[in-house]
Amino acid sequence: MVTVEERYEHLEKTIRGYNISADLNQIRAAYEYAREHHGAQMRRDGTPYITHPINVAQIVAEMRLDSESIIAALLHDCIEDTDSTYEDIARIFGVTVADIVDGVTKLTRVKYSTMEEEQMENLRKMLFAMSRDIRVILIKIADRLHNMRTMEYQTPAKQKKKAFETMEIYAPIAHRLGLAKMKWELEDLSLKYLDPVAYEEISRKLEEASRQHDRFMSRIQEEIMSRMAELGIPHATVYGRVKHPYSIYRKMYLQEKTMEELYDLFAFRVLVDTVPDCYNVLGIIHDIYKPILGRFKDYIATPKPNMYQSLHTTVIGEEGIPFEVQIRTYDMHAINEYGVAAHWKYKQGIKKEGGEADYEWIRRLLENQEDADAEEFIHSLKVDMFSDEVFVFTPRGDVVNLPAGSTPIDFAYSIHSAIGNTMVGARVNGRMVGYDYQLHNGDVVEINTSKSAHGPSRDWMSVAKSSEARSKIRQWFKRERREENIAQGRASFESELKHVGLTMAQITAPDVLPSILRRVSFQSLDEMYAAIGYGGLTALKAVNRVRDELLQINRAAALAKAAEEAAARAAQEAKAAQEAKSNLPRKVKSEKGIVVEGLSNCLVKFSKCCAPVPGDEIIGFITRGYGVSVHRRDCPNAQPDHHVEANQGRWIKVSWSDDIRDSYTTGLEVVCKDRTGLLVDISTAMSTCKVNVNSLSVHTTADGFAIFHLTISVTDSRQLNQVMNKIHQISGVMKVNRPAG
Ligand code: MN
Repeated sequence: MVTVEERYEHLEKTIRGYNISADLNQIRAAYEYAREHHGAQMRRDGTPYITHPINVAQIVAEMRLDSESIIAALLHDCIEDTDSTYEDIARIFGVTVADIVDGVTKLTRVKYSTMEEEQMENLRKMLFAMSRDIRVILIKIADRLHNMRTMEYQTPAKQKKKAFETMEIYAPIAHRLGLAKMKWELEDLSLKYLDPVAYEEISRKLEEASRQHDRFMSRIQEEIMSRMAELGIPHATVYGRVKHPYSIYRKMYLQEKTMEELYDLFAFRVLVDTVPDCYNVLGIIHDIYKPILGRFKDYIATPKPNMYQSLHTTVIGEEGIPFEVQIRTYDMHAINEYGVAAHWKYKQGIKKEGGEADYEWIRRLLENQEDADAEEFIHSLKVDMFSDEVFVFTPRGDVVNLPAGSTPIDFAYSIHSAIGNTMVGARVNGRMVGYDYQLHNGDVVEINTSKSAHGPSRDWMSVAKSSEARSKIRQWFKRERREENIAQGRASFESELKHVGLTMAQITAPDVLPSILRRVSFQSLDEMYAAIGYGGLTALKAVNRVRDELLQINRAAALAKAAEEAAARAAQEAKAAQEAKSNLPRKVKSEKGIVVEGLSNCLVKFSKCCAPVPGDEIIGFITRGYGVSVHRRDCPNAQPDHHVEANQGRWIKVSWSDDIRDSYTTGLEVVCKDRTGLLVDISTAMSTCKVNVNSLSVHTTADGFAIFHLTISVTDSRQLNQVMNKIHQISGVMKVNRPAG
């Protein structure tokens, strides 16, 4: 049996081994303070209680933490289990130590009464959120580790419960903080109580294997050592070990294999000074032994999320026994074994001891954890650092996750809307609190309800922090207070309506109301008022929609009116055209060779201005009372004047009919240099082309020109063109025109 004093001296020796500036006086003072306060308390194994804090401090010292951590570890159960107080510890050991002890105490008070899977991550997050100082959680893990090591004296029920908590909460936290050594031990110890049969079997087989292969192990170790020495790799350390029972257990379980089928029961570690040495050693190992394909992993180039760095390879020796070799530097090894604690110590070396307030470095550590789960985890750490979440307990021990600043109202509604709606009071940690009380991490919240409760009041909306609570309160108002909502909604709607210059009468007019209701998606105005009343819709939004709809309705009405007028005008014109048509003498038809589109027996006359002949492009104009007058399309009088409203629709398509027998009268103007014989030549051209001249006039100008105006009869434009060409060829003729306009 080691005495308490011997244990303490061992602790001091460990501390001196890594921290020459440790405050051993204060550490001893803490040890004595704790021993005194724990007094005659005993542990279940029959040792004085003080052995527990000393052992926890020993684990903390093995993590190489600072003096304050050691002191806090020695004092960690004082507030919880003795008459010591926070103030007392703060006075003697300083506020930092007192805060750490207080933090560990709060974590100790957390009761894990739930075993539900989805609660586990919340619990892990809560422990972080409650640990304002990373040393709090490191000491708590050390505390748990020592309790697990001495769990054999507890009742089986307590063993199972603690083992489960450890496996689900503490081991994952240790893993995330990179505390590999503690993680393995926590898992192995948990397995021992969770699945004793498997644990015993695996442990026994591992032990057998290591005994059986003792010679094999030392031979491999020597082979590697001597080859490294040959190749001049300095300061190398090699050691072999069997793997941890829990890692074997997990592999057997996940890969559904027996222990004999597993590759790596044996593992060797090679520790060297530098990264290049690591790769050199890897070459040596692969040279001596046969590597197993696909089993090489380079965690130096790509560290694991928790910053673990190492080279892993699995090889086979002469005996055909596969074994894993892990190659790393001493620095990597320290971080691999102690994770955050190693970083923390490193940081301490740069800064002065104590007062670790900023979490920047942990955040960096955790930001490397890239999987989604880790992202969640970082978020949960930020919760602590930037406090946007708070974790509280139900009386049953379930963890409820709420936005920071949440109140009992938020809590009540997060449990169930019926709890919120019938809430008449709230207790936090057993004390009555107001509805606006801000919840803290770890608070146990209890809601008093009553069937005769009046329900939420409107100002709860502004007290509640979570959107969930607010929306549930709104729901309640929506359902329970319809009349009140309608009155209130109507009032705010009407005032908003007035604001935009509309009246209720404009809305309730029977021809607009249905489409307005459709627009706002309500069955009735009361429904809409109710929605405004309980806050499901703002009055402003409702009025905007209504105004929009009214605008649209008005615009549609204006368009309809315009269309109506247009239709009336069109009808009037059609009537006029019809009248024009019916005035025509029946016997006159298209004998003039003109087809008027859409009209038969239409009176047709040829305009004097352009005198069209068959073959000319033509257009018709419905005159008032004189039928259709036909123009050449290029006649200046036949350019449809759409802008003259009276003429709109009067221009009409006409065409030449196929069976033309008549001849047509048209005019020609011939400009010539005057000379004798000119009239004879023109007459000759006419008769050559078989064109009749109906009339002819000529006048001469003072400067010696003669201008002829002829009225002639032709069958079509082809004949006309012929004669015009003929005339053009006559000597002295300068221009031949068809007059128009
Ligand atoms: Mn403890």
